[in-house]
Amino acid sequence: MPDTLHMPQTIAKARTLAALKTEVKAIRDKSLTLAFVPTMGALHEGHLDLVKRAKTHADRVVVSIFVNPLQFAPTEDLDRYPRDEAGDIARLQGVGCDLVYLPTVDVLYPAGFISRIDMSGPALGLETEFRPQFFSGVATVVSKLFNQVRPDVAVFGEKDYQQLAVIRAMVRDFDMDIEIIGAPTTREADGLALSSRNAYLSAAQRGIAPKLHTGLQTIRTAVLNGQDADTAIAQVSAELTADGFGQIDYIRLADAESLGPVRPNRPMRLLAALWLGKTRLIDNIAV
Ligand code: AMP
Repeated sequence: MPDTLHMPQTIAKARTLAALKTEVKAIRDKSLTLAFVPTMGALHEGHLDLVKRAKTHADRVVVSIFVNPLQFAPTEDLDRYPRDEAGDIARLQGVGCDLVYLPTVDVLYPAGFISRIDMSGPALGLETEFRPQFFSGVATVVSKLFNQVRPDVAVFGEKDYQQLAVIRAMVRDFDMDIEIIGAPTTREADGLALSSRNAYLSAAQRGIAPKLHTGLQTIRTAVLNGQDADTAIAQVSAELTADGFGQIDYIRLADAESLGPVRPNRPMRLLAALWLGKTRLIDNIAV
């Protein structure tokens, strides 16, 4: 029977680059293909859906769990970002993960690490207006993880739509021989996009949070009915504020590929980031 039909009984763990390389070599020595799902842990069903999708694209799946300090500003939630390694590994059982890579900060950024990836195009605007360091940090860690894992395929969520566009551009620009797969956003029954940061929400805030997705759908319907996008966005923004949301960083209709201004007869994407108490929520939908 071919080896690919044998599901491993336990998930292998690698905490060092040497351990990762040994595990990956064992996979490659059997001529098996490899899919990769990078995460920051605090895994939920959205992450698990990426792993399941990855398994349909390759013989073996590597999941990394690494809270990347490079993509957090000093004022952001690096220290309080939820961490649950044992729970994460338990959740990864049975969804198709073969190897979990758990590097420490020293493994990714040893003393003397000085390089950064600096991008424009889809990395400009939207998130970058509020988190200027974010995509440089994401692109730098993802390129490092790609070089360490050397997958055939990598799966990213559309939940972080701008991030997916940035990764696609980076892979294209640096001739990285990796197929990037975008996976649809996994949502709660009430429409709230699953996010590790939802754990920060109080019960009252959790009740309000789905109104973001409802608001985006309202704007989409208005735009598809020929209404002016800016007017629809202003109306929904006022409703979200009345509902109890705090600062709206952006709600913007963009070209689905470039994330620049919309173009006639081209796919569009409606993207949003806003605050609910001390928690920043992002979401996006196709228009
Ligand atoms: P994170 O751990 O937040 O860095 O996310 C790791 C990966 O999971 C990224 O590719 C995210 O886009 C993806 N992801 C996070 N939330 C969801 C979701 N609700 N649905 C689908 N993918 C998601």
